[in-house]
Amino acid sequence: MAAAAEQAPKIETKDMKTIFAERKALFDEVSGITGIPWIYLAAIDQYERTLTIANPKTRTRQPGLIGIYYSELEWAGFANPNSADTNPASIALFGGKGKDGSGDGVADRNSDLDALSTMASFLLQYGKGIDNLKLALWNYYHNARSVERIEQFIKIYDTYGRIDLHEHAFPLPLGAEYSYRSTWGASRGWGGHRIHEGSDIFAGYGVPVRSTCYCIVEIKGWNPYGGWRVGLRDLNNVYHYYAHLQGFEKTLQQGNVVKPGQVLGWVGSSGYGKPGTQGKFPPHLHFGLYRDNGKREWSFDPYPYLKKWEREERLRKEKKSGQGG
Ligand SMILES: [Zn+2]
Repeated sequence: MAAAAEQAPKIETKDMKTIFAERKALFDEVSGITGIPWIYLAAIDQYERTLTIANPKTRTRQPGLIGIYYSELEWAGFANPNSADTNPASIALFGGKGKDGSGDGVADRNSDLDALSTMASFLLQYGKGIDNLKLALWNYYHNARSVERIEQFIKIYDTYGRIDLHEHAFPLPLGAEYSYRSTWGASRGWGGHRIHEGSDIFAGYGVPVRSTCYCIVEIKGWNPYGGWRVGLRDLNNVYHYYAHLQGFEKTLQQGNVVKPGQVLGWVGSSGYGKPGTQGKFPPHLHFGLYRDNGKREWSFDPYPYLKKWEREERLRKEKKSGQGG
């Protein structure tokens, strides 16, 4: 399937550890200078990175540690005759946003430190604290969803105190009996959408259903088609949708931060009726993934990701048991 090939997950390289460490050092540096909590900077940077992933053609910048993006015009000023201007004085004269954060006298939109400092100096105009940040973000994006996402990311970073939070887990325990295949886009399914927007993982009643990511619980409750369903938001601005649960883990609440493998509830057959309806189809977990580009949200095939997470989790387990003897 073409859609699956386009979405083929990338293999994480060892370098990611170094990248996360260097990126975190940049947040700490700018936080130290400006007094803006590093988790705010990290959350905005990560949100901007997800916008670039969703809009790769319009957001081009030299790849670096920082995902915050300014177009040439935004950076240099719309009336600036030199759209590649790097002189902080003339940029300021033409109302451009670009600032020199590294102190080398050059405001370079492709410099990580300059881009991050430019964002920080914008935020500082509004003062510190979360309410001021939200106001600043509203004025920056003019989009309530952007503000909400960044707040969610802040909460995830605040919970763990680090940015290396991109590990995933398979939604069911690997030791459980289950089966699934690629059914995304099929015209019929138990998802209740125009097309089948997910993969159905068949398993018995009561098999634990687990978080696939470091995520925040965005939605939890009853939905006429999905039954008892839960929706998680991860740091890639991807929405992980779980439907037809038998019930929820009792401490799970909307707004909770969860980690890969954490139990959310149990496999069931709820849905297709009034709250509590179950048994209209065999028990299974309907699992969907949706990407948000800041304006709209769309479903993509979770199957290659399920396969990847299953494989990665198995490898981690083997590694662990190997080390433990
Ligand atoms: Zn389904």
